[in-house]
Amino acid sequence: MSIADNIKSLKKETTPIKVTLVAVSKTKTAADVQQAYDAGQRVFGENMVQELVEKHEQLPVDIQWHLIGHLQSNKVKYIAPFISMIQSVDSLKLLQEINKHAEKNNRVIDCLLQIYIADEETKFGLGFDEAIELLRSEEYAGLKNIRIRGLMGIATHTENEKQIKEEYRELKTLFNGIKLSFFRKEQTFDVLSMGMSADYKLAIEEGSNMIRVGSTIFGGRIIKHWKNN
Ligand SMILES: *Cc1c(COP(=O)(O)O)cnc(C)c1O
Repeated sequence: MSIADNIKSLKKETTPIKVTLVAVSKTKTAADVQQAYDAGQRVFGENMVQELVEKHEQLPVDIQWHLIGHLQSNKVKYIAPFISMIQSVDSLKLLQEINKHAEKNNRVIDCLLQIYIADEETKFGLGFDEAIELLRSEEYAGLKNIRIRGLMGIATHTENEKQIKEEYRELKTLFNGIKLSFFRKEQTFDVLSMGMSADYKLAIEEGSNMIRVGSTIFGGRIIKHWKNN
């Protein structure tokens, strides 16, 4: 199937149940992205700042770019002017840096806290306790140019569906708890980003409303980029 066919069939699957499809275009060409765009896709995810900036310059301005990979504080400035959502916030320090550059650009940047749920050492993210500690902190309370829209998590890379479902279920439980404790009055804490090509159906069953799908749309990638962000 072509990129356009893949987009259309995923849209058909996700639109009626209000799940946002993020097309993960890392390592793929601007021409590939354009094909997905022409099929109606507007939200794209990248995991490397330089690649993201280059594609942003080459492609239509109404694309909503999401950063889904680990972000170094010193690179925030390159994406702050245009980024639609940063899904990979894994420290207060990074959040403060994002806030600083958002302020310089006169905007509020939507962020997700990336939560560590996998049984693997290579994945970035905050522990459950760390996320709560961050949200309780005075430093966080003072940040006016970022908005926490929800949580993101990456499950263990395993064939074991039961384990994947458990990890996603725990993330959903944390999401509900945080929503009640910290965002009771805000309608905007509403994004639970979980699920990739291999496991997005399981993730949706466990309450995901944003999936990040790469290889199912664009085909396989070279291994290097696969999980080291
Ligand atoms: C690469 C990547 C994806 C997409 O992976 P696929 O298996 O190709 O769908 C999703 N989320 C993150 C954080 C990624 O780095």
